[in-house]
Amino acid sequence: MRSSAAHSLRCFAVLCLVGFLPGVASADTIYLKNGRKITASHVVLENGQVSYETAAGNLSLPASIVDHVVREAAPLASTAGTPADRAANLPMAPPSEMVAPAMDAAARTAVRDGSIDLNLLAKLESEANANPSPTAVMRVIAAESAAAQYETSVGDFQRAAEHYDVGLRFDPDNLSLLLQTAYLHLRRSEYSAALNLLDRARRIEPDSLDAAKLSGWAYYGLNRLSDAVTEWKRAMALKPDAEVQHALEKAERDAQEEAGYREGETAHFRLRYNGEAAPELAREVLQTLETEFEEISSTLNYVPPEAIGVVLYTNQTFSDITRAPSWSGALNDGRIRVPVEGLSSMTDELARVLKHELTHSFVGQKTDGHCPVWLQEGLAQYMEGKRSRTNAGALVSAYENHMDFSLAAYETSWLHLPKETAGTAYAWSLATVEAMLTAGTMDDMSRILDRLAAGSTAEDAIRAVLRDSYADLNEFTVQYLRKAYL
Ligand SMILES: [Zn+2]
Repeated sequence: MRSSAAHSLRCFAVLCLVGFLPGVASADTIYLKNGRKITASHVVLENGQVSYETAAGNLSLPASIVDHVVREAAPLASTAGTPADRAANLPMAPPSEMVAPAMDAAARTAVRDGSIDLNLLAKLESEANANPSPTAVMRVIAAESAAAQYETSVGDFQRAAEHYDVGLRFDPDNLSLLLQTAYLHLRRSEYSAALNLLDRARRIEPDSLDAAKLSGWAYYGLNRLSDAVTEWKRAMALKPDAEVQHALEKAERDAQEEAGYREGETAHFRLRYNGEAAPELAREVLQTLETEFEEISSTLNYVPPEAIGVVLYTNQTFSDITRAPSWSGALNDGRIRVPVEGLSSMTDELARVLKHELTHSFVGQKTDGHCPVWLQEGLAQYMEGKRSRTNAGALVSAYENHMDFSLAAYETSWLHLPKETAGTAYAWSLATVEAMLTAGTMDDMSRILDRLAAGSTAEDAIRAVLRDSYADLNEFTVQYLRKAYL
């Protein structure tokens, strides 16, 4: 995997891919009158509504709360992304079952001018507690749903789920609330929590297309491939759908390949490997992963909610199954997939690859899939122990010769990058993360990730914590490289 390339920028042992990142390129920014920003694509103004696409699906806002929209050319490659780079965040639209818009005047004002009227929500809730009449309950549900839809539109899935939860307390059998909340849990990689809600939805409506579709996703996330295939086949029988068809094909491909695989399980991992692999290697991989899990967990101050799936490929099947570009050494598309051809026991190199991929799992889940690629790859390389020493000189002279290291352009998928360009992107990302950890601490990094989870753009999150814009950060990175290595 490591090649002794002449060009120092190409010196990377593992060129891995990330599937966690939002599949939608961040081409446009919608500025709301209250100061919040939404990064989106396909922004369209129509009939008093601004509709747009985010990782959460197609959303819309009243045009009255939008101040202006800044459109930018897509920075890299295609904005749609290939199926492979959207694998973990399965490109599935939110449930079609929506709560009816509030007919009630009081509930309708729950979200106004781009902010949520929390006093109104509290008032409606206490009225419904005092007298849970159908009208009072309907008002709570309508108002909380409006608040949840608003939070979803600005990317804060956790707060959105909390609003739906209030509705569910008053109406536990509300199909729409169950499905919408389950969807948000799926976006947060909380597959078991999603499955609980989906089971309840299915008891209410056994033939719910959304319940089948989303259950497939939950099982896929839990590494239960045959259950995922069953659910997605059921969804296809109810109504053919391109998103489900694509997901089904992917799950079937995995299931077929892994049919003869053996399994191993520890507290935090579910491992599959081909029968030809030495069981000893599988055991060592699990032991290594558990140790690394504890380290990363305490560094990033986070514990992923579900067991992480890992697949070891002992032969050529890695590239056949994952359809990864030829330059990638391992892959994390929600499951950690590592080629181990020719290995019979743990090596330093394999331990680094595992730690790199595991960092992606942590960062992807901690940020609800909102982490830009450069920060994902910078952190993963940093955590595996890589440093910029060998690349510092080349990076600084490239920067001095006006090479544009655009963090904005490095935010979205790298899958289409040629090997050389990808090498530069990895090198600059690592240098930037090192510089950030010089300017701040790992706790600051953790706070930046939390802000990303709450829907902040990467540049805003960095500005809020480290007081740096992308341009400042690039300058600082060059200064850091000079001081540390040259
Ligand atoms: Zn990586």
